[in-house]
Amino acid sequence: MLMRRSLHCSSLRWPLVRYFSCSPEPYSLNSKASAAAIEAERSIAEGPRNHWTKESINAIYDSPILDLLFHGAQVHRHTQKFREVQQCTLLSIKTGGCSEDCSYCPQSSRYNTGVKSQRLMSKDDVMEAARKAKEAGSTRFCMGAAWRDTVGRKTNFNQILDYVKAIRKMGMEVCCTLGMLEKQQAEELKKAGLTAYNHNLDTSREYYPKIISTRSYDDRLKTLEYVREAGISVCSGGIIGLGEAEEDRVGLLHTLATLPSHPESVPINALLAVKGTPLQDQKPVEIWEMIRMIATARIVMPKAMVRLSAGRVRFSMPEQALCFLAGANSIFTGEKLLTTPNNDYDADQLMFKILGLIPKPPNFVDESGCHGCQAQEGDHAEEKCEEAVANSM
Ligand code: SF4
Repeated sequence: MLMRRSLHCSSLRWPLVRYFSCSPEPYSLNSKASAAAIEAERSIAEGPRNHWTKESINAIYDSPILDLLFHGAQVHRHTQKFREVQQCTLLSIKTGGCSEDCSYCPQSSRYNTGVKSQRLMSKDDVMEAARKAKEAGSTRFCMGAAWRDTVGRKTNFNQILDYVKAIRKMGMEVCCTLGMLEKQQAEELKKAGLTAYNHNLDTSREYYPKIISTRSYDDRLKTLEYVREAGISVCSGGIIGLGEAEEDRVGLLHTLATLPSHPESVPINALLAVKGTPLQDQKPVEIWEMIRMIATARIVMPKAMVRLSAGRVRFSMPEQALCFLAGANSIFTGEKLLTTPNNDYDADQLMFKILGLIPKPPNFVDESGCHGCQAQEGDHAEEKCEEAVANSM
């Protein structure tokens, strides 16, 4: 109905946006609907869009909080299986001693945080952790290494390729976060069966230099480009609570939502301030700030998995329920998130039961139609693939 009636304003550039008031302001205070309501309706009707302006995302972000929550939920219900929540386990396979200066990170060698530098974990230990994660219901296993990049780490990189292949054979999705990648490395990871690569933008382009000086925003975007070109799912989001302004949160979402394709996963992290880092005294993020970020991300990137990531440990079950309602549909499970604490396994099980959430099954179908069952050529009978997927659930 909204679209039909908007034809009366057909000379306007944004017919849906201006329908209610036909005023020169895109989201007038006189409107009967908030920007969240108007843009949510468009996201449901039109699907993902990547021509967002900062102003339009800012207007969504600034909508009255209950309206924003409600319309994030509406988009979530129309574009996702809203009871399904993806469970990912993140393991630090190479901890500490990182040369970078990310101000929030206890693994940087520049800060005295008590995190000890460790070598790359052995295959047996990684596989054991992946098995435990699978038994606990995780469908995606993410391996993180505290490196600037993987250039000049041929031996370690080859080991990781081997881990990726082995974990895919267990019927899990596999994600890595190893710092910046070269084009060829992205291609090798894809060949090994990597499902997704995580490389967060952290914050807006404008605020970024206040957080990290050792690599640029464009370096980060380049890695995302290589990952995308290699055919690996892109996982990229950011952190709130770094001391950034609201416009930086909007700026982060704007960069992600205007990429040629939206990331398949968008982690929204709330800073867990760690003693010894330059951000140790930051105030904890409030639940309302998380809800604003999650609901806005859901409206502007309707098909992405929006992940309630670091900082979840500080939120109660009812607070997390609001995040799921606003549009989050992925979490990290397991004792730790790299080096910081995470939610208790039993508490998460109870939360799934009470909130009626269902674990999301793994998705292996790539562009060739392969489910990633690692069958040899000639074995790709449909039933084998189905069996492999069924066994992995
Ligand atoms: S966030 Fe990553 S790159 Fe930055 S210091 Fe920590 S481990 Fe290094």
